[in-house]
Amino acid sequence: MSAAGGFFGRLLQVDLTNRTSRVVEIPEADARKYFLGSGLAAKLLYYDFAGDLDPLGEEAPLLFIAGLFAGGNLPGTSKLSVCARSPQTGIWNEATVGGHWPAEFRKTGFDGMILTGRCSELTLLHVTKAGVRFESAAALEGVDAYAAGEALKGRFPERTRFAVIGPAGESGVLISAIVFDPPNTRLAARAGIGAVMGAKRVKAIAVEGELETRYPVAHPAELQALLKADVPEIRKNTVGLTDFGTSGGVEAVEKYGDLPIKNWQLGSWPEGAKKVCGQAMQPLMLDRHYSCYACPIRCGKIYKHEKLGLYGHGPEYETIGMLGANCLNDDPESIAESNEWCNRYGIDTISAGAVIAFGIEAFERGLITLKDTGGLDLRWDGRSVLALTHKIGLQEDVGRLLGLGVKKAAEQLGPGAAELAVHTKGLEYPAHDPRGHVGMALNYATASRGACHLEGLTYFLDRGIPAPDFGYTTPPNPHDSADKPPIVVTMQDYLSVFNPLGMCKFLFIGRVGPKKVAQWLHAVCGWDADMAEVMRTGQRLVNLKRMYNVRLGVSSKDDILPPRLANLGKPDGSAKGVLPDMARMLPEYYHLRGWTPDGIPTPAKLAALGL
Ligand code: SF4
Repeated sequence: MSAAGGFFGRLLQVDLTNRTSRVVEIPEADARKYFLGSGLAAKLLYYDFAGDLDPLGEEAPLLFIAGLFAGGNLPGTSKLSVCARSPQTGIWNEATVGGHWPAEFRKTGFDGMILTGRCSELTLLHVTKAGVRFESAAALEGVDAYAAGEALKGRFPERTRFAVIGPAGESGVLISAIVFDPPNTRLAARAGIGAVMGAKRVKAIAVEGELETRYPVAHPAELQALLKADVPEIRKNTVGLTDFGTSGGVEAVEKYGDLPIKNWQLGSWPEGAKKVCGQAMQPLMLDRHYSCYACPIRCGKIYKHEKLGLYGHGPEYETIGMLGANCLNDDPESIAESNEWCNRYGIDTISAGAVIAFGIEAFERGLITLKDTGGLDLRWDGRSVLALTHKIGLQEDVGRLLGLGVKKAAEQLGPGAAELAVHTKGLEYPAHDPRGHVGMALNYATASRGACHLEGLTYFLDRGIPAPDFGYTTPPNPHDSADKPPIVVTMQDYLSVFNPLGMCKFLFIGRVGPKKVAQWLHAVCGWDADMAEVMRTGQRLVNLKRMYNVRLGVSSKDDILPPRLANLGKPDGSAKGVLPDMARMLPEYYHLRGWTPDGIPTPAKLAALGL
C-alpha cells in the first residue's frame, strides 16, 4: 500500500502465454511525476519496452491503468486509460473509458494491469484482489459484445463488471474497440485498441472488487469540503449535458461550421441537424439517463427502440456527426441502429462513420464497384450506412477493406483515393471540422495519437467556455490562425493530465482548471502541488508521448492536415472559405514547445522536464 493517498502502488503484470502474473510496485515518485492512467503508461511503454514491437505481436504490451482519482469520490473522475502501440496508426495510442468498470477494478486493490503474451485460446480474465484467474471463453467466439456481456452476467457475483471485445476485435479489424459495461456501454474506442486485445486472444476481462477495499485519501475532511463547493458548481455549468448529453449540441455545432458533412465536402446542413440532434431523438428513443461512476453530470443516455430491437447506450454527438452528417444521413433510426451494431461488433463509431463516408464517395467515383460491395448500390443514406456497418463488423466483401480505416483503404484502392481519405497519421478525424475552429487544425496535426480532438479541445474556448486560470475570459476568433499556437500548447499541456488523473473532459466545461486540480491533488494524495506543477506534468507527458512517436519515425513530415481540410474551403455556412494557416502556426508551435524545426524535442527541453 502506498503511503500517499490516491493510489495503491500496485500493477498486476500478466503473462498470457504462460498464464502467470506478478505484482509490480509503483513508486510514489513515479505517480507524482507521471500521475497514473496514460501518464504512467507512457513512462512504462517508452522506458521499459522496445518501441518497434509489432502491435499485434505476442510481445506487445496492452496496459489498463486507472486515472489517479478513479474510484474515489471526486466528481467526473471515473476514467481509465487503455494504452498500446496502435495497429492502425503504428504510433502511440491511449483510449480512455469511464462507466463503472474502472472503479470496480480499483476495488481489487490494483491501479492497473499490463498484459503481455498471447492466450492459447479465446480466454476470459477474472481479476480479483487475489490476482488473475484464466478461463476459456471459446464458447463466446464470434458473439457480439452485448450478448457476451449478457451471457457472462449470471455466472459472476452481481457487482462484477465486464470489458469485452466483439467479433471486430476478434478478427483484427483495425478500427475495433473494447466495450465496457455492455449494454450501458462506454468504449475504449480509438485506433484499433480492440484488435490489440483480440490479438492477445482475450475475449473478456471480468473485474470483481471487494467492498472493504477503500480508495485511499490523504485528507478526508479537506476532500469533503472541496466536494461540497465543487459539485454544485460543476452541475450548474453542465446542465445542457445532463439534459441531452453530447447529442444535444448537434445544431449548435452545425451553426459554427464545425460539423463534417458528406465526407467533409459541404458547409451547412441545418435541416439534417434538426432531425438527428438529441432533442429530436430523445423523445423517440430515450429510456433513461445514465452516469459514469460518481459523476453528477450524468451525460449518458440509454435508448430503447422496441420495433428495431435496440437497447443500449444511444448515439453520442460524435456518432451522430460521423454516421449521420458525414454520411449525409438524416434518418435518426438508422443512426441509432448503426450505433448499436457498432457497439455490438465492437467498432469505433467515429472511424466507422469516416470510413463509410469514404466508401460511399469512392463508390460514386467508381473506385469501388458493385462487385466489391456484393451488389449493394451505395448512396448517401441510412440504408447504406447500416449495410456497411454490418459488412465491416462481419468482415464481408468491401467491409474487409473499410475495416482497415481510411488511410490503408485508400492505399489499397490506389490513385485518386488518397484525396478522399480524411486522417492525420492514419487516424480518422472526429466530428469537429478544423476549418470551423482553426486551432483544432494545429492540435490535430500535432496530437500524439493522430487526429484526436480530445488532446486539444480549443473549440471549447471559441464557444465561450472561459478558462480564467490561463487568462482566457473572452472567446478567440475561431477562424484566425494568428493567436492559436500558444493557446494550443496550453490546452494540450492541460488536457494531457486529464487521462492520467481519470478526469472526464467535460470537467473543463464544469470550469475545473489546473488550480482546482492542484487542490484535489492535495486533498487526495497529500501532495503540495500547484498549478505550475500540474501544467509542467502535462508538458512532460506531451513530450514523452512525442518521443515515443519520434522513436517510431514521426517528425514534422507527419504533422499535416489531409488535402481536403488543408486546401478545400467549405462552400457555404459560417466557416465558408476558411482554411487553417498551417505554414504560420506550425513553426511557432515547435518554437513554443522547444522542439526543432523538424518537430523533435531538443535534449535541453527533455532534460528540463526530467525526461
Ligand atoms: S460527464 Fe458523462 S462521460 Fe463524463 S464522467 Fe460524467 S457521465 Fe461519464
